Amino acid sequence: MSKKAVEIAPYTGENLDGIDVLLYNDNATIADYTKALDAYILKGKFTRLRSNTGQCEGCNICCQERIPLTSIDVRRLKREIAPDLDLPQFFQRYTYITVEGRAVDITLARDCQDKCIFLDPHTHKCLIYEARPLVCRTYICTKLSPQASEMRDYLVNSGEDELVRIWWESGQEKGLVIHEADDPAVIGQDWPENVWTGKTNYDELKIKEILPDNLWEKVKKKGESCV
Ligand code: SF4
Ligand code: SF4
Repeated sequence: MSKKAVEIAPYTGENLDGIDVLLYNDNATIADYTKALDAYILKGKFTRLRSNTGQCEGCNICCQERIPLTSIDVRRLKREIAPDLDLPQFFQRYTYITVEGRAVDITLARDCQDKCIFLDPHTHKCLIYEARPLVCRTYICTKLSPQASEMRDYLVNSGEDELVRIWWESGQEKGLVIHEADDPAVIGQDWPENVWTGKTNYDELKIKEILPDNLWEKVKKKGESCV
């Protein structure tokens, strides 16, 4: 894959130094996107809006919030930290599943202080950094261009849709794992297969194939004009 499939670029919004995402290539994958973002976060110029020190070191505010999961996040975490558990057991132990009517939300479990279960309480570092979920990989508390923000939301949400489909399938034999419910009325047909189905790694997922056409066009064109 070309180095230029995805580029993270400076963006200025409301007089703040933020981040834009430029997509140059129809074959750009989610792995290209997260790699480009990792590199920019290390060296690029942008303002961290939620840190007193301007650094992530010693902060971790964002590890105390809702962390929605994708199908690949769960596959990877299960492989790395819990290969002996079956999926329902994994859901039970490491996630928090909320059902409200037909809506389902699958997030990482939090501890009794409402912090992510993978945040080391002593060092305040991520215990699963290499396998951290997509929403963690793509978050930085800076000003995002509107199209970068919309793209991120769409990728995470479509990956969570596939995870809900897998959760539904995995619960058909022994019952669904649910941690919190309000008038639950889940319908399996609400969660059809999508581009994520059958994929096990982020380098298999082309961004163009996930985004609706109008968002793809917006990301490519507007990204080029906001720098
Ligand atoms: S990205 Fe998260 S850890 Fe880093 S400064 Fe912002 S809120 Fe804190
Ligand atoms: S998985 Fe790691 S980066 Fe993500 S919220 Fe938990 S501790 Fe933070």
